[in-house]
Amino acid sequence: LAWCRALPKVELHAHLNGSARSSTLVELASGLGEKGLINFPEVQAILLKGDRSLAECFKLFDLIHLLTTDHNIITRITKEVIEDFAAENVIYLELRTTPKCNASVGMTKRSYVEAVLAGLKAVEAVQVISGSQENHKKVLGTTLSRPIIYVQLLLSIDRRESTEAAIDTVQLALDMRNCGVVGIDLSGNPWVGDWNTFVPALKLAREKGLRITLHCGEVPNPTEVQNMLLFQPERIGHACCLEESEWTSLLHSSIPVEVCLTSNMRTETVPVLQDHHFASLYKSKHPIVICTDDPGIFATDITREYALAAVCFGLKKANLQFLAQNAVRHIFADDKVQAELQKIFDAAAINPH
Ligand code: 5GP
Repeated sequence: LAWCRALPKVELHAHLNGSARSSTLVELASGLGEKGLINFPEVQAILLKGDRSLAECFKLFDLIHLLTTDHNIITRITKEVIEDFAAENVIYLELRTTPKCNASVGMTKRSYVEAVLAGLKAVEAVQVISGSQENHKKVLGTTLSRPIIYVQLLLSIDRRESTEAAIDTVQLALDMRNCGVVGIDLSGNPWVGDWNTFVPALKLAREKGLRITLHCGEVPNPTEVQNMLLFQPERIGHACCLEESEWTSLLHSSIPVEVCLTSNMRTETVPVLQDHHFASLYKSKHPIVICTDDPGIFATDITREYALAAVCFGLKKANLQFLAQNAVRHIFADDKVQAELQKIFDAAAINPH
């Protein structure tokens, strides 16, 4: 584990609310319990439960969203999540989150994202680099007393949303490009919603130059998987339930796959870890990026995910190093950031023996 921790890493698939610390969520629940708004012991037991099906996860997200409704809390969990990733030596983080409205606390999708951005600024443990190239230059031009982490945001469209709501999210992402928003994600309960609902928003995002990643094939849905692959997103997440013809299309497409081992195992979207499609993707030299998905919910971190890949699929340190560095090619930030990250990897060049 120590070697995997020291390895510089790139995280491209992490949901903000799924990455919140359990201790913070329990603390927030306890506060609501004291006010008599929830039954704290019951909520605590749900928050700390180990194994969860995919359906239970989505119920849990609804519960977490009840705990993280106001701007200050969003800012706090963002700060903590970035510090936690940085502690695992993540040097580039693409954090995704679903902008939410909540009239009762005056929250709009825009103010939600602003609260997330305030979280980036609140980070103390490391120096966050985000936003426009000018911002990058400003930070990199100063003497840095702390390790750095690049943080970029993806705005998620929830599959429960309408076409109009999805377009609103894309518009917001376009407005916030200079603040570090680099792309759009489609996520949420895969049993809910229809691909065609989201196509207009995703086409708009593409037309305007935002990058796109889709949760694809978490449950069997051949028509949707085919349509998603035909859309040619810049990346997909999961790709667990693909039939043979879809699998062939994926391999031909070279679309990078964000692989989330613990998440897939815990939610049983993949029955046994040893049979995970990571092995065939890796053998086919298909681009893959090891990611966490929801480290808070699945009690994991990116270091553990690398170690797990090593143990389950017999990867050597040099293979892990290759995977970590190669992930830089699949980030949504521009070429300049890619070049800066490559320099960090080259300088770190950990001895693989
Ligand atoms: P948030 O967007 O609120 O920061 O993070 C939690 C949300 O991310 C969930 O409500 C859900 O929409 C999405 N999400 C998190 N993990 C998964 C996953 O494994 N699969 C899918 N499809 N969506 C997820």
